[in-house]
Amino acid sequence: MRQGKRGLTVAAQIGLGFGVLIVVTAVLLWVFQIALLGNFYRETRTRLVIRLAEDVSGMLEEEDLDEYVESLSNESGSVIVVCDEMGMQYSGWKPTVRKCLLDNLSRQDRQAIFEQVNLEGGAKVTTYESPFVYSDGSKPQVILYAKVVRTPGGLVRMILVESEITPVGAVVITLREQLIWLTFVMVVLGALLALMIARFIARPIAFINESAKILAGGDYDTRFEESGCREVSELAATLNVAARELSQVEHLRRELLANVSHDLRTPLTMIQGYAEVMRDIPGENSPENAQTIIDEAKRLNELVNDLLDLSRLDNGGVTLQRTPFNLTASVAGILARYDKMMGLTIPFHAAGEVWVTADELKISQVLYNLINNAINYSGEDKRIFVVQSVNAGRVRISVTDNGEGIPADKLQDIWERYYKVDKEHRRAQMGTGLGLAIVKKILDLHGGSYGVESTVGVGSTFWFELGVRSEE
Ligand code: ADP
Repeated sequence: MRQGKRGLTVAAQIGLGFGVLIVVTAVLLWVFQIALLGNFYRETRTRLVIRLAEDVSGMLEEEDLDEYVESLSNESGSVIVVCDEMGMQYSGWKPTVRKCLLDNLSRQDRQAIFEQVNLEGGAKVTTYESPFVYSDGSKPQVILYAKVVRTPGGLVRMILVESEITPVGAVVITLREQLIWLTFVMVVLGALLALMIARFIARPIAFINESAKILAGGDYDTRFEESGCREVSELAATLNVAARELSQVEHLRRELLANVSHDLRTPLTMIQGYAEVMRDIPGENSPENAQTIIDEAKRLNELVNDLLDLSRLDNGGVTLQRTPFNLTASVAGILARYDKMMGLTIPFHAAGEVWVTADELKISQVLYNLINNAINYSGEDKRIFVVQSVNAGRVRISVTDNGEGIPADKLQDIWERYYKVDKEHRRAQMGTGLGLAIVKKILDLHGGSYGVESTVGVGSTFWFELGVRSEE
């Protein structure tokens, strides 16, 4: 068998998807946690010192400035100094046991800083490495923020805030170790999940694929396992229906072929036999024998016509010639013909005349088929009648017989082509098994409805409905 373009299997695609997800997540974690951690931390501290300076600048004219500075300094762990433009210190505090730069500044240094900051717009952040060394050998980074403030009361002050950025190196090492473990756990978990999902989704698909290949190979009895997630099990169920249909069609096809050849051969054998007898045996050249030949030829003709009709209807080769016509008159005309040809009077009950727009020839074929069946399958006395009734803009024609009836479980099947309830006695009855299939096709083409009610031993009523033509 020809194989289409091969892609990745579902399992591989799921695995790949999970792989990409894990890699992206891990990369994002590493970038944010390790590479950007230092910057992030520095920005947080910078925002803190700026906020501290803001807070102090609002208190410059207050009496309890010193206490305020002290408590702010202790809370935040930052050194805060307030001085004037000459570098004179007015207030200041540093948290205990801390070495700091601001401590080492002289008045002149502060004055120089004031001048520089004032020139540069009144505020400045500087980050530099502290001259002090931690016990573990690392040197802290320090942020120094200087802000020049002019109070509403005319004071000119400079607020200096110094804060340490604790080295994040040690934190990063811990984080890195954690991330290595996390990545490892993610890879293992991801692989397990991918495997489980693939098993759950891909396995049923693989089963369906296998069964479909068998089906394509012509084994229509294959069944698809309806397992896995909903879409997949629905797919399997749909394929099961399709496989059943295929198997039924195949079955019908074989049966049709067998039936057709049988039905063609029997009359042909009879015709040949009778003709030979009439030719060879003097005195057998009787009208009865000739009639048998004519009857068999007629039967052949009917069969071939039915087959042709059905195949034309099947292939969509038939276009309906819809014209308005008097259905009531048409039915009455057909029944009159039975009276004339067979001497069979079929009562017709109709309340009034009804017009329809349909293909008159095809509708008469429907009626002929239903009446022929009623005649063929009715009791000895052939009590058959036809009723026309109108309801809600639709006209119903029903043909009732007092025949053998049809078992309830067969009612669906009789509309199938070549279906016969009583296969044993096929030959004894006249039908080809195609009549109702033709009826069904014609009414489907008309958009009409049809059906049957039947009781075994009592009789059957076959009916069909068409829309009534309104203006007549
Ligand atoms: P057939 O040519 O054999 O009549 P149809 O397609 O017309 O084929 O009918 C299919 C089968 O339905 C018949 O073989 C018969 O068994 C059953 N059937 C049809 N009409 C009737 C009826 N009026 N009464 C009993 N059985 C019927």
